[in-house]
Amino acid sequence: MLRYNYCLLIYSLLFSQSLFANQQGMTCLLNAYPDFLSQSTDTNSNTLIWKDGTKMLYDHKVEATNFEDLLNKADLKTQMSIPYPLGILVEAPALNQDPGRLRYEPFFEKMYGNSANAVTKQLTKVFWAPSNSYVTFSRTSGASNSLATVGKEIMQQPNLVSYVNKSLGTFNWRTIQGTSRKSNHSFGIAIDFQLPKKLYKYWSWHCKPNQSCQYPKSVLTDTILQRVVSIFEKHGFIWGGKWYHYDTMHFEYRPELVNCSTSH
Ligand SMILES: [Zn+2]
Repeated sequence: MLRYNYCLLIYSLLFSQSLFANQQGMTCLLNAYPDFLSQSTDTNSNTLIWKDGTKMLYDHKVEATNFEDLLNKADLKTQMSIPYPLGILVEAPALNQDPGRLRYEPFFEKMYGNSANAVTKQLTKVFWAPSNSYVTFSRTSGASNSLATVGKEIMQQPNLVSYVNKSLGTFNWRTIQGTSRKSNHSFGIAIDFQLPKKLYKYWSWHCKPNQSCQYPKSVLTDTILQRVVSIFEKHGFIWGGKWYHYDTMHFEYRPELVNCSTSH
């Protein structure tokens, strides 16, 4: 009987912790996208309700065999499962700490469009002040306005400008190289920059999936890059350099992660 009670206690603790985690993750989503998501949820906090009545299950009870498998099966709970660390990156991210790479694709399709055509209808030209030119970005959920604000703020620190004055592209309806998952460039909410050569690093140029990968140390010590990153984060963007599977040129509009972030 004692053992039974003990098991019951452990079970209810685990259950309530997972409920709490679900509520936290859902709250981050609701706060980040108030124009699209309804504040009402079901009693188990396991359904995200859109303002048009669409319902999305938060926790699909995903079971994955490895990290690549998890990337392919990610649900909303998985999407919110790795906290994004705000501020200066002091050490290389731990194994598979890729906050933002886990994405529930139907969520982005619903928000930004489920075809090249549908996404294109939501694109606008944004003045990117560091290059004194325009880039294409989604106007949905404040993405393009936030990008324009980042550009203006970077201009206030002239020594940051050369890092981000060459855009390598924004909208591109495509899958991530070697996968069937869509890149967030598909939704018009990501931008890449031609960083200085020693900082311009992408994990799959050097490493294989499901094998250990050495983080480029030069990225950790560059104070100009860190200042650029802080400005992006202030306006709802995450940086691919904070991923174990690093993509240092990549910035992506993900307010649900930045609002829920952890600070160093
Ligand atoms: Zn990119």
